[in-house]
Amino acid sequence: CGVVGVAGNDNATEILVHGLEKLQYRGYDSAGVFIDSEKGPDFLVKTTGSIADLRKKIGPEVQGTSGIGHTRWATHGGVTIENAHPQFSDDERFFLVHNGVIENFQQLKNDYLQGVKFHSQTDTEVVVQLIDKFSKEGMSTKDAFNKTISLLKNSSYAFILMDKKEPNTLYVAKNKSPLLIGLGDDCNVVCSDSIAMLDVTHTFMEIQDGDVVIVKPDSVVVIDADNNVVEREQFEVDVDP
Ligand code: GLU
Repeated sequence: CGVVGVAGNDNATEILVHGLEKLQYRGYDSAGVFIDSEKGPDFLVKTTGSIADLRKKIGPEVQGTSGIGHTRWATHGGVTIENAHPQFSDDERFFLVHNGVIENFQQLKNDYLQGVKFHSQTDTEVVVQLIDKFSKEGMSTKDAFNKTISLLKNSSYAFILMDKKEPNTLYVAKNKSPLLIGLGDDCNVVCSDSIAMLDVTHTFMEIQDGDVVIVKPDSVVVIDADNNVVEREQFEVDVDP
């Protein structure tokens, strides 16, 4: 399974699908992408088949400047289109990809999300619905993301979140699941493994468990578990794509 994200590139769709093709070696049972831009429509495309099937489902109209993609290895909920990621909030404002397991998702659902309409059987959907709930209560997206993460117990995750109100921003977090930020010329990317993004950049940044990262086309801000803005080490990957 794997995640990919791109912030600020007119070729976002192809970068994401190519990235998912490169992550196939990690194993998966379904896949999907969400693609958006400052102007124009957004697109959610998911499949239970192969990445080749996903590619076939993506028509030429599916274009944007930012997006997220996912290959799923189901842990909670069967292999269905509804359970494929990106998962989204009931108002379809927030879109989330997740690798890992939310151990206390049922408890969180009972405690915070009574009466909310769910679209899937995944543990992941609880996270995106919680972000939406805290956002509706008046929090910024960053604070709603942070607050939600603080409620996750014994869980593993690589998250990339998109908010339709800020289509060129990716909210990223990790704990016990691999995740890298790739630094491009006019765009930045996110991936489980650098092999997914070598067509875009060879410069990557390692992020640490507990970090929350705000990725925009021209900036990457890393906030550590103590809520301080920190610098993380960059490294070059010198292999041909
Ligand atoms: N636990 C999530 C699910 O079953 C994510 C699985 C994964 O890592 O792909 O949907």
